Amino acid sequence: MSAVAIDKSVSAFRMERDGDLAVIWFDLPGEKVNKFSTSAMTEFASIVARLEADRELKRIVIASGKPSIFIAGADVTEFTKATTEAQASEYTRFGQQTLHRFSRLPQITVAAIHGACLGGGTELALSCDYRIMSDSPRSTIGLPEVKLGIFPAWGGTTKLPRLIGLPAALDIILNGRSLDPRRARKAGLVDEVVAPSILIETAKAYARKMDRKRSGRGRTRVWIEGNPIARRIIFSKARKSVLAQTHGHYPAPLAAIDVMAIGMAEGVERGLVAEVSRASRLIMGDVAQNLVRVFFMMEESKKDRTGAAARDVQEVGVLGAGIMGGGIAQIVADKSEAQVRMRDINWNALAGGMKAASRVWKKKVDRRRMTRGEMARKLARITTTTDWSGFAATDLIIEAVVENLAIKKQVLADFEGMARPNAIFATNTSTIPITQIASGAKRPDQVVGMHFFNPVDRMPLVEVIRGEQTSDVSMATVAAFARKLGKTVVICNDGPGFVVNRILGPYINEAGYLLEEGNSIESIDRAMLDFGMPMGPLALLDEVGIDVAAKAAGILREAFPGRMIPSTAVTKLLGDGRLGRKNGKGMYVWREGKRQGPDQTAYALLGGKTPHPGNSASMVQRMVYAMVNEAAIILDDKIVASASELDLAMIMGTGFPPFRGGLLRYADSVGIARIAEAMSGLEKTLGPRFAPSEALRRLAQSGTTFYAAYPSRV
Ligand code: NAD
Repeated sequence: MSAVAIDKSVSAFRMERDGDLAVIWFDLPGEKVNKFSTSAMTEFASIVARLEADRELKRIVIASGKPSIFIAGADVTEFTKATTEAQASEYTRFGQQTLHRFSRLPQITVAAIHGACLGGGTELALSCDYRIMSDSPRSTIGLPEVKLGIFPAWGGTTKLPRLIGLPAALDIILNGRSLDPRRARKAGLVDEVVAPSILIETAKAYARKMDRKRSGRGRTRVWIEGNPIARRIIFSKARKSVLAQTHGHYPAPLAAIDVMAIGMAEGVERGLVAEVSRASRLIMGDVAQNLVRVFFMMEESKKDRTGAAARDVQEVGVLGAGIMGGGIAQIVADKSEAQVRMRDINWNALAGGMKAASRVWKKKVDRRRMTRGEMARKLARITTTTDWSGFAATDLIIEAVVENLAIKKQVLADFEGMARPNAIFATNTSTIPITQIASGAKRPDQVVGMHFFNPVDRMPLVEVIRGEQTSDVSMATVAAFARKLGKTVVICNDGPGFVVNRILGPYINEAGYLLEEGNSIESIDRAMLDFGMPMGPLALLDEVGIDVAAKAAGILREAFPGRMIPSTAVTKLLGDGRLGRKNGKGMYVWREGKRQGPDQTAYALLGGKTPHPGNSASMVQRMVYAMVNEAAIILDDKIVASASELDLAMIMGTGFPPFRGGLLRYADSVGIARIAEAMSGLEKTLGPRFAPSEALRRLAQSGTTFYAAYPSRV
């Protein structure tokens, strides 16, 4: 018997006996979700010890006491607490061995899964003989560990391939994928899917019906995957595809493949040993530490920072049915219960907006992520108009008309003329200060920035911007609504370009200068891809639209004279009628909407220098330090409250490599003084745009870091 007593008052587990069967309920006190904190795992270990000695008990069902979550996994806050590899290894081994002991209990064990079953929760489910899942839309099962820079090391990496076969296990573990009940059943990850109301009874009946523990190797196709040569081919293909996706920046999926190879070739016990040693090294590494920080930044960004209560939003108006308006209408109808009224000045644009919205849903239907009926219902929530009919009832209007101050002020005035007195006007402007748009408004406290990124359905960031007179209620309402749409919110103060576009300004400018100097298009983009950006700066220009970028660059140049001087490259390309993707002509060759290789004819426009591959390290330094310098001024200007919020904005808004923890975390790892010194060197050779800003110099002199100087205060 275990010596560890269970303190009933804080107990996370409760056992309900019914003859030779027991249901173990996991219900972590004081928490919305169940997670395996060390204390919960310790309690579970003592239960396992009792069960090992219990000769009366023959069957066990494990279930969750939470209404819509099974187990969310390990407690992520504990990962960062280990200060040595030995501690990380001890932590990993304890969880793994507890679940492994559970898997070897004499009793027949069944997991009854309702709600999210993730990470350590899935590893507990894998340690059961059988798994029954509810068919609730909230039920999902997966192993997302790679997203935190680690891999499942409580037995998951070793055991999953034995249950569902190697290819399916690789897909789940390497991509951090979760499956819905139907897919989980199809993959063999769960044995039965039933309605939530009969889940526990079915699991009990299953446990009673089975007279033996599960044996054999699940779905592993012994003849193929049991063959070392076939396995080697599968693993080598998996390694190649991981490297193609990650450019070698993420060690966890590769480690998972190595561990799986050991587990398959040498057996479960050896696989488990490999899990512990590889995972503990990863836990202590920079990539996992940075990814865990990003996870916490995301969690923090979900909290309200205004102190005001958000208003309910039931009717939404969208102004402008262009690229952004169509996307915004789609996501509002998709993710909220609100009715959407979309207005444009011409019917063609409205038809285009509706078409763009249905395209997004159609893709989901094609991938069987949505039914046709659901799509029709959501589409029907959007109605269109060329006049103002239907707008008097809206709680929130999102303005996405052309980027022109006079037009924006006009639509705001028109709206105020007929809107409800407390209706909020949120503008999606990318560069114009909110205070300028609100000047002259009747109710400037109800004008707020709500900056989505393109494409709206895929880009996770929304900057919520406070104009000089914006009220807390307006901020709280727009932030809460953006979160409801599944977006990550970063709260900003007002200023040209806000955070992300303002930082992208000097970055894109520098890419233009590099191009003018004769560096080849592919070498500039390759340098940033190798740094970890999802796309090079010149490809980004083509995607965003060279005209759109030129306009933004003009606004930033006016706002920050002397510092944000664009190269002539963009104007020259524009002069040649190159708009990028939208007209199939840019820095790259475009074919049927797909980007091909660099367009060699672009060089002639840029002064005719023969293009040469540039020095990757020095190009990265120029482009990244230009961003760091601007970021320092943004913090100094109090546009954003903390280094971590700025980093989150860059990660979610531009895909800045999460494994680096963000722009400023990267800058801190290099050292601010070193960056300032390098910039002074660049200033001598390249001119005043590289002069380290006053803000950067001050930080460099005080020997601090961005994270110490601008800590998060939530
Ligand atoms: P767009 O040119 O594709 O669409 C603008 C639409 O507004 C057009 O259909 C036009 O007919 C309509 N319009 C013009 N005047 C109007 C009026 N008075 N009432 C109603 N509709 C009117 O532009 P877009 O790219 O969708 O950009 C819209 C806004 O979003 C701009 O402020 C832009 O800066 C911002 N934005 C754009 C992007 C981007 O990448 N395209 C990203 C973020 C934000």
